[in-house]
Amino acid sequence: MRVGIGYDVHRLGENRKLRLGGVTIPYELGLIGHSDADVLTHAICDAMLGAAGLGDIGQHFPDTDAAYAGIDSLILLSKVKALISADYAIQNVDSTVIMQRPKLAPYIPAMRQRLAETLGISSNRVNVKATTSEGLGFIGEGKATAAEAIVCLTELK
Ligand code: MG
Repeated sequence: MRVGIGYDVHRLGENRKLRLGGVTIPYELGLIGHSDADVLTHAICDAMLGAAGLGDIGQHFPDTDAAYAGIDSLILLSKVKALISADYAIQNVDSTVIMQRPKLAPYIPAMRQRLAETLGISSNRVNVKATTSEGLGFIGEGKATAAEAIVCLTELK
């Protein structure tokens, strides 16, 4: 068994879509980044790469590479899965999004489903939680969103 952790932060800004776990969430602000800035999916990518000992998302998909401009981060997650799938099975993913607004609970089932489909596992193996930072700091002030994830892999051989 191998475990990996992932953590990511993106700024919130105007004229951007808010994408979390591959789901577009209606909100007046969106996350800013080179890709679609899906902070949750990025944290899961990093946790998977970490568990497999394969570095981090920036090494595999540099934000200086035009190929990844505006890309759907689920495509990055599918590429990460392809990197590990010959050697590892994904047992489970757990994750937390830390965001002051909007309320994410109504969108969590869809996030779990999209992430699980991309990873080729059932949605009961992909957990997504949401919390606020109680109005404190850059997340509480609505300037950014953070996500963390942990992944358990088992070796196939
Ligand atoms: Mg990121």
